Amino acid sequence: MSENNPDLDGPPDGGDEETEVKPVVAVVGRPNVGKSSLVNRIIGRREAVVEDVPGVTRDRVAYDSEWQSQEFTLVDTGGWETGASGLAGSVAGQAEYAARAADAILFVVDATVGATDADEAVARVLHRSGKPVVLAANKVDGELQEPDALALWNLGIGEPFPISALHGRGTGDMLDAVTAVLPETPEGEGEDEDAPRRIALVGRPNVGKSSLLNRIAREDRVVVDTKAGTTRDAVDEVVELGGRPWTFIDTAGIRRRFRALQGADYYATVRTSQALDRAEVAVVLMDVSEPLAEQDIRVVEQVVEAGRALVLAFNKWDTLDDERRYYLEKEIDRQLSRVSWAPRVNISASTGRHVERLVPALETSLAGWDTRISTGRLNGWLKELVAATPPPVRGGKQPKILFATQADARPPQFVLFTTGFLEDNYRRFIERRLREDFGFHGSPIKLTMRIRE
Ligand code: GDP
Repeated sequence: MSENNPDLDGPPDGGDEETEVKPVVAVVGRPNVGKSSLVNRIIGRREAVVEDVPGVTRDRVAYDSEWQSQEFTLVDTGGWETGASGLAGSVAGQAEYAARAADAILFVVDATVGATDADEAVARVLHRSGKPVVLAANKVDGELQEPDALALWNLGIGEPFPISALHGRGTGDMLDAVTAVLPETPEGEGEDEDAPRRIALVGRPNVGKSSLLNRIAREDRVVVDTKAGTTRDAVDEVVELGGRPWTFIDTAGIRRRFRALQGADYYATVRTSQALDRAEVAVVLMDVSEPLAEQDIRVVEQVVEAGRALVLAFNKWDTLDDERRYYLEKEIDRQLSRVSWAPRVNISASTGRHVERLVPALETSLAGWDTRISTGRLNGWLKELVAATPPPVRGGKQPKILFATQADARPPQFVLFTTGFLEDNYRRFIERRLREDFGFHGSPIKLTMRIRE
């Protein structure tokens, strides 16, 4: 695992990886038409400060939202005005960005003012974009203003929905129209929250996997249950450890002795990948009595690629002398630096040393793996980060990060919506800071980009 091995970094260019992202709805419109009030109304909070002063930027740009069980990310484009000039600084330019980044546009117009030149410019941009647009005719606080809304048909982008962002009038129908044009979000995977967490105990042959399993079973002796796995002879065992049950995957495969046979390495790799498929967290066992091997690193890579939580367990600690220990630490620094976020335990399956420390390590890794950051919190954080350390200029252009969203957990996956390519270094910087500020101990993180040139 050298510095130029990209495998542990997730996809080298996340631009085209298929990640399920909640659909994005961008709220577009001139300053002062009521975008922020509408955002507040939709997210049902009073959290975003409403600014009556045109052009004043807001703290946050993107919010987790939901209407009739349809989840989406709501983006307030008012936050994009900062320091931009030329087309990007104009409302129409903003609408153009929004149309590229979003799945649907909520175009807000002040019905009491009527369509201005700027509104018409925005309408043209949106029309050209081909993205679905829902037209919100705001400030229709009562029936008296209804005709004002009707006058907005002349923008040429369809039916105006008369609403009052302030009072909530008409927003339900408008949101029905928005969700009707959004792509469906897939259902949750229906994970059983109470089921024991699933552990794959992996490592190259002879590192002590079956010894560790025997040690655990001997100490706790509470084999609660055994049940057949998905492959024919894979058997999982539920073992109580640290006061709670855990499922160890394919314990039959661990105990089987294949090491004398030809092709044992191949078998081990296949077994590892099958076990990882069904696991949530992997304990990678390594043998400290020998130098770390290429094959040890490969197993670690397999875990990261599979997107599983990771615990590093250094076994046969009873064999260590001072000299070997010195070299071991050097090997770990050099070869496992890419997974420095993984908790580490030094154990001996033979003597039982520190085997109980596996439990907090597993819990830490799974907690990181499960973590979800709300879109609002993530974007507040990102905005500060980017302001302090902007992405480096590339090809004479400064890439802009419009907003970010956590598309998934288990493992955490983030999608950055940008206007240009972010260098590897910068993405690694973001990942490092995500880890520093939000934890994610023991979990791989996937960071991908959606570039809107
Ligand atoms: P597996 O192939 O990963 O399942 O490895 P095994 O559990 O069969 O162990 C391989 C060899 O290492 C056996 O001879 C074990 O007795 C030995 N071994 C396992 N754990 C330890 C340990 O903590 N200390 C020492 N000294 N030997 C160990």
